[in-house]
Amino acid sequence: MSRSEWSYRSDSFWSNDNVAETGCLSIIVLGASGDLAKEKTFPALFHLYCQGFLPPSEVHILGYARTKISDDELRNRIAGETWILSFKKNKSTSTRSSSPSEDVSESLKLVKYVSGSYDSAEGFQLLDKEIAMHEISKSSQEVSSRRLFYLALPPSVYPPVYRMIRKYCMNKYIRYFPADLSGWTRVVVEKPFGKDLDSAELLGSQIGELFDEPQIYRIDHYLGKELVQNLVINISSGRFANRFFLPLWNCDNIDNVRIVFREDFGTEGHGGYFDEYGIIRDIIQNHLLQVFCLVAMEKPVSLKPEHIRDEKVKVLQSVLPIKDEEVVLGQYEGYRDDVTVPDHSNTPTFATVILRIHNERWEDIHVQFKDVPGDIFKCEKQGRNEFVIRLQPSEAMYMKLTMSYDQSYCFYECCFHVCRLSFMLQHVKQPGLEMSAVQMSISLSYKQRYQGVMIREAYERLVLDTIRGDQQHFVRRDELKPGPTEADELSAKAGYVQTHGYIWALPPHRNLL
Ligand code: NDP
Repeated sequence: MSRSEWSYRSDSFWSNDNVAETGCLSIIVLGASGDLAKEKTFPALFHLYCQGFLPPSEVHILGYARTKISDDELRNRIAGETWILSFKKNKSTSTRSSSPSEDVSESLKLVKYVSGSYDSAEGFQLLDKEIAMHEISKSSQEVSSRRLFYLALPPSVYPPVYRMIRKYCMNKYIRYFPADLSGWTRVVVEKPFGKDLDSAELLGSQIGELFDEPQIYRIDHYLGKELVQNLVINISSGRFANRFFLPLWNCDNIDNVRIVFREDFGTEGHGGYFDEYGIIRDIIQNHLLQVFCLVAMEKPVSLKPEHIRDEKVKVLQSVLPIKDEEVVLGQYEGYRDDVTVPDHSNTPTFATVILRIHNERWEDIHVQFKDVPGDIFKCEKQGRNEFVIRLQPSEAMYMKLTMSYDQSYCFYECCFHVCRLSFMLQHVKQPGLEMSAVQMSISLSYKQRYQGVMIREAYERLVLDTIRGDQQHFVRRDELKPGPTEADELSAKAGYVQTHGYIWALPPHRNLL
């Protein structure tokens, strides 16, 4: 494959200050022996490789953990059944080769493993040596040293790892090129970003002392999902570029916005982890609040990641204290049957909370539209207009409209009506890793519209963003601050942690309050 095919797009819809960098790229997965690395991080890297986003002439992947295994043992682990199956399922859309097995073995050759502890100079010096060997082998053609450290580790291990990376493993100046061409070092950290304000601040300051904010990528894989990304483009090209949405997206027309997250499975052996964090920290405070910000934010100055993140923070700052009577917490029956969950656990697995935004656009809002004034069809009983975005499963967008149907006026989830009436066209983001907009009907079932096109795994997109230096879909430190203290007091009174978001869960729940 030629170099031009590998090069990054700089003229994309999302073009910002990202540098179209080339050069040695070392991706180091710390905690390489763990579940996250095996199930998410390595598969994302290999899919990116197979689609041509990680040039073999530049990239090198290193696993690091304490477990003593060989390169081949790690390769065997990560070429496990799950990923091979998922790759086969999607092979029709692979751009590099029609033979997945070739790609699999080729990409596995890029992987090496270094064993060491998370706080020993020896281990990280060895790691640095391994990275440097790769860089030196490439430096006759290339200039920069790009080092991406992906922490697939429990947060308790982050502090020593930050220190070790800073001390021993930062990118090095290579050859005769000016410093600004010498590359970068970036650190990707996984949620949870702390358990409460104190621990979040502590984690923030520990990394903040050693790395600058542009070097830090806090990963929330929800932000990499196709339809969450679509929300960004909807908001920018939909809300802010279409007159249809522009005048409607405010409290005069919209009564309330519901963000619903449902899971139809339990803790599945991860109850120990879950019980420490609960549904609020695990889902609401991170995933749902991110979606909430995207729906409610004002028009950013531009589509640059920092401008979008500025607007998200403003939304969070405009949220009013949560009222006691506007919170419901619950726990599904059978949760404590999980042997890893303490018998007397009161950790919420269910939460509903109303967030009220106090600003000009959203003052007093309780995307459901208000009743039609002077409704001559008397359709109140059927329901209101709704604009629905389903993120998973089966990503889709549709409007619920009131239409004439079978001699009666009824509330209708209408897809073909919208098309038939040529009701409107809307820009959406084309699925895939490039950010470009296409025009299509407002009623969109992703599966129908994009048959045969692979909807990208969130982790693939986010890893690629870290390489491109695009922080748009990552959480900035000031987005992590929790809500008003009154909300914490409220939860403390009830003995539970306060929640931010709106959740429905399927199994029966007992009320915790
Ligand atoms: P694991 O518990 O599997 O830990 C990953 C690796 O870290 C282990 O293989 C182990 O490697 C090392 N490790 C584990 N515990 C300790 C410890 N106490 N001290 C030092 N090293 C330790 O975690 P996951 O891979 O499941 O997740 C990693 C991080 O990502 C966690 O913070 C988790 O919350 C987060 N996360 C995970 C998701 C998932 O799908 N699994 C999803 C979203 C977030 P070794 O002993 O070889 O050094």
